[in-house]
Amino acid sequence: MEPKIFPEIDAALCDGCGKCLPACMSGALGVRAGKATLIRPDLCRYDGNCELVCPTDAIRVAYVIVFREDPAWAGQNPLIS
Ligand code: SF4
Repeated sequence: MEPKIFPEIDAALCDGCGKCLPACMSGALGVRAGKATLIRPDLCRYDGNCELVCPTDAIRVAYVIVFREDPAWAGQNPLIS
């Protein structure tokens, strides 16, 4: 099973404004007890819209580094010869 990653929510920075909710087109986010919460992680598409709209930088979608071994990338990536 492929591991799934989720946006990180810093509860100390989140003021519960809810601006990330409409930005989350999949409906994965909600506000519970005054803090943004990933209420439906199964729906999260990791698109990063929540991070873009958050006024307090409380939600972060970290980058994922993927090393590919696709021959089509040969010569374009110094890590693949
Ligand atoms: S937009 Fe930011 S501050 Fe507002 S509820 Fe979402 S994570 Fe919290």
